[in-house]
Amino acid sequence: MPQNFPKNAIKETFEWLAEVGVDEVILDVPQSRFEKKADISAVKISQDVSSQVEKVVMPKASVDLKALEKINTLEGLRDYMQTFDHCALKQTATNMVFSDGNPEAKVMVVGEAPGADEDRLGKPFVGMSGQLLDKALLSIGLSREKNIYISNIIPWRPPGNRPPTQEEIDICLPLIQKHIELIKPELLICVGGVSVKSLLKSKEAISKLRGKLHIYGVADQAVPLLATYHPAFLLRSPYRKRDVWLDLLIAKEKMTELGLAA
Ligand code: URA
Repeated sequence: MPQNFPKNAIKETFEWLAEVGVDEVILDVPQSRFEKKADISAVKISQDVSSQVEKVVMPKASVDLKALEKINTLEGLRDYMQTFDHCALKQTATNMVFSDGNPEAKVMVVGEAPGADEDRLGKPFVGMSGQLLDKALLSIGLSREKNIYISNIIPWRPPGNRPPTQEEIDICLPLIQKHIELIKPELLICVGGVSVKSLLKSKEAISKLRGKLHIYGVADQAVPLLATYHPAFLLRSPYRKRDVWLDLLIAKEKMTELGLAA
């Protein structure tokens, strides 16, 4: 290390990296960002630039709804999302987090967005909050192996686990709507405010939306929707577990009514 290297420089650099969302090292080998630098010298400046302007590919503003409409399988949707470049979160994410669980399930759980563990493994709710979610769902007879399907409003991790912005939600919403349409659940369970507010297009707080059944309209179906607190919130506020338990009892009652209870 050079003699006059500031003592706190490394510590401060890491603190800054964590602040902007770089909170883990993904690659074993350092990657040089300089090697891939565009070869500016190769760009020839022509007197008449109009011919070059046409070659500039402008990113499309949002989901191609016509293309989405034609999709009728989960594989088709996954492929479409792999090539979907309108959400900037994709550029910083390691993996797309599509779903987990049984695609034949009649109960679908919708979360917010992947965290660090989900981003690394490409599966929803695999970290600590996922383990708590699994326990809670098991208490009403639901498990990924048998009878639930899980996905998120946003399929790419927001850096540093920040909440997704409204713009990111708006861009990704048609994707989860299509996902729900393909799964055809008979009951939706939204975990967390972002999930329920996005699907119901509501501005109400999760504390107001939880604890009762809503209706989510998809294609020509009216699907009962129950919202509850996010398991990550429960890890920080365990006294709210009682409320989640009460919410899950409502889900269980609905499942019994629909003939879905185990
Ligand atoms: N939180 C979510 O909302 N979804 C996940 O997949 C993981 C954590």
